[in-house]
Amino acid sequence: MSAGKIFWRIFYFFSPLVLFALVLSNQFPAQQQNPVYVGSTFYGTFAYVWLCYQFVISARPKFIEKHFGMDNLYRFHGVMAGVSLFFLIGHFFIRFAGVGFDPTNLGAYALLLFLITSLMASIFLVNSFLRRLKFIENLHRWVNNKLGLKRYLFVLSHNFSLAAATLMFLHVNSGIVGEISPAVRIAYAAFFLLGISAWLYHQILRPLRLKRNAFAVVENRVENQTVRSLHLKPRRGSPFHYKPGQFAIISVHNQQLPPEPHPFTIASNPANPEEIEFVIKASGDYTSQLDKIVVNDEVRVDAPFGVFSYLNHPEEKELVFVAGGIGITPFLSMLRWMSVNDPQRKVILLWGCRFTEDLIKTEEFKQFSALMPQFRWHPVLSDETDYEGETGFFDAEKLNRLAVNDIDLSSAGFYTCGPPIMMTIVENALHDLGVEKSRIHYEKFSF
Ligand SMILES: Cc1cc2nc3c(=O)[nH]c(=O)nc-3n(C[C@H](O)[C@H](O)[C@H](O)COP(=O)(O)OP(=O)(O)OC[C@H]3O[C@@H](n4cnc5c(N)ncnc54)[C@H](O)[C@@H]3O)c2cc1C
Repeated sequence: MSAGKIFWRIFYFFSPLVLFALVLSNQFPAQQQNPVYVGSTFYGTFAYVWLCYQFVISARPKFIEKHFGMDNLYRFHGVMAGVSLFFLIGHFFIRFAGVGFDPTNLGAYALLLFLITSLMASIFLVNSFLRRLKFIENLHRWVNNKLGLKRYLFVLSHNFSLAAATLMFLHVNSGIVGEISPAVRIAYAAFFLLGISAWLYHQILRPLRLKRNAFAVVENRVENQTVRSLHLKPRRGSPFHYKPGQFAIISVHNQQLPPEPHPFTIASNPANPEEIEFVIKASGDYTSQLDKIVVNDEVRVDAPFGVFSYLNHPEEKELVFVAGGIGITPFLSMLRWMSVNDPQRKVILLWGCRFTEDLIKTEEFKQFSALMPQFRWHPVLSDETDYEGETGFFDAEKLNRLAVNDIDLSSAGFYTCGPPIMMTIVENALHDLGVEKSRIHYEKFSF
């Protein structure tokens, strides 16, 4: 585990202890010996600090994201919001048992608001465990399809958690929680300010910065019936640096499309930073409207994010890429980079699609074979009946015969990106073939 990961984990889990110790040490001895007080302070201070941190995490700070990857960071946010609420409920009930319910206590309303926003997020924003319940999934569909309420609306409504945090801040400053010394007041304010600043940066400053450094569409190319590639150039100044395989969160600003941000892999070659490219498949409401994007439209690009790049693993000498459908995009970027900077690298690409037409940019892949003597690629088509190459789905036999058999397992890295079911099958098959978990890397196309 990297030093950065260890640092942030220790910081996250142990820093609430500072507030807990400070609050406790500033109390009268009678309170310090009262288990109800100590218990509720413990739960309350941990919930308070962790809930403030949720605003920092959801602002996706690059200095933290680069250690974990955004999908892990968002998953952590979801889990830790739940854990913090559990602590908040613990705090509430210990207090309630000790001193009874006080309707003027703002903490109770903060808890209620947090519960509502978290429940809405678990049902309408993320694929949480709640969505496995049939009636919740039906509710989700009904709200989406019948009421026409889109995901972006729930992203906006998630900001109510800021009101909850403000109530929580007023609650800890109200005196209900005991005598408050200036040191404790400052500590409470510092954590709250940290959360608020992250929120302000994410909601106001970052959008302004992205607007100032906006990109313009230079081409919106049709790749096949469902896939388009968007080519962008910075309107002014120079483009950003990124590693092949990383992604951006982009929003298009024209009269036709909602300005909602969506994540897409930066499929272009980082060696040619003058232009960036996104290769996007129509797979839902937003991505089906990309034909409405025209040359010179403004695109705001927040990037780079993600840790799915072979450059992050220099110890891996030989590489196996397993892509499914549009999951080819990070590999396209890595191969474009490699064909210029690292052409001797041994790489085997397995690319599963349904039909031959789903294989995009095939000329470029042939070109990679010409530029990289140790590059081989095998399209695997599941629904093509007359195809002479590989057909069917990935399984251990296919992975072994086409890739694993032919590489040095002790130094190889395995990368997979595609539909979740395909990635699970590939992961299980690689385990069965003896590939260590630490050598299998994933990019999921959903948070
Ligand atoms: C790291 C990453 C890289 C990606 N790279 C590519 C790529 O190179 N090419 C490509 O075609 N697709 C890519 N995707 C997937 C793409 O972001 C989604 O297909 C797209 O956002 C779906 O939006 P929609 O409204 O068309 O579909 P919907 O039917 O509304 O959404 C389908 C699913 O996409 C996810 N999703 C929808 N909106 C968002 C959002 N604003 N933010 C995050 N997730 C969302 C949700 O899980 C949702 O269930 C990538 C996704 C991620 C997370």
